[in-house]
Amino acid sequence: MLRSAVVSLVTVGILATGARSQSAVVTLKYFGAAGWEISYGTTVLLIDPYLSRLNGPRPPGAPPSAQHDRDTRPAFGWADRAVSDTSTIDSHVQRADFILVTHTHYDHVLDVPYLAAKTHATVIGTESTENVLRAYRIAEDQLITVRGGEDYEFGTFSLKVIPSIHSALDHKHYFSSATAPRGMTAPLTLEQMHPEGGTLAYLIRFRGHQILVFGGMNYIEREMEGLRPDVALVGAGASRKEIHDYSGRLMRALHLPALVLPTHWDDFTAPYGASQQTSIDAVQDFVREIRVASQKTTVIVPKYFEPIPLAAPK
Ligand SMILES: [Zn+2]
Repeated sequence: MLRSAVVSLVTVGILATGARSQSAVVTLKYFGAAGWEISYGTTVLLIDPYLSRLNGPRPPGAPPSAQHDRDTRPAFGWADRAVSDTSTIDSHVQRADFILVTHTHYDHVLDVPYLAAKTHATVIGTESTENVLRAYRIAEDQLITVRGGEDYEFGTFSLKVIPSIHSALDHKHYFSSATAPRGMTAPLTLEQMHPEGGTLAYLIRFRGHQILVFGGMNYIEREMEGLRPDVALVGAGASRKEIHDYSGRLMRALHLPALVLPTHWDDFTAPYGASQQTSIDAVQDFVREIRVASQKTTVIVPKYFEPIPLAAPK
């Protein structure tokens, strides 16, 4: 099974050849939730990096965590102060140049103030996201506020900011038009770092690759028109089933990207060491959906922190 998987990866040219060192190719690493590191050499981009994995509130409509009874950590409620697990973060993130945030929910933004202060990375996100950073006194020159539609050049990469929409949680009853206001002061509660503030997707053009990044289980189909990513990080949690032909419409709109990496499919309220078997079993349906929609697409279910090197673009 493993062997055939490797052969198919090599066939479609996703994996780098053994002769290349990882530092010479674009490499992705999954942090859990919607969190990723995308790096090339010393250039490091982080996406929705959330490593603290607090025993916190679950999304609306989500069943209780399979780990709930075994989790001996303190439980965090909405009124509790957000606290980053700095030792876990420090053991996995040494540097970052840019941090891209898709929306202002705590499982996307909670660790961004600590990471921005630690790495001095530039944080790109909505006004809502930047107001959370301002509460933690992150310098204004580290903040780039976007709303969707921008296409920015940064030298080592370019970034198309894509208007998007949030997962249809709680059987489509989730809705938020709330934005985190200016003028908040840290430390913030989980509730204060949880007004959605609108949702974005990002197309990162980096070293010949085009990497499309989502932070959840929805998209605006017309915003996909004209995009030709070779890699797509696609929300694969259960709420995608609320969306009509979620995987099929997306794969067709994107003209069948070579590689899909499922994101936001794990139980982010469970610590790293806990079993994710329930989520791993559930995500296999997503893998099948993508294979049905696009036989030429490779799907890799990422393991936490395991490097996924991309082949040099053709
Ligand atoms: Zn969210």
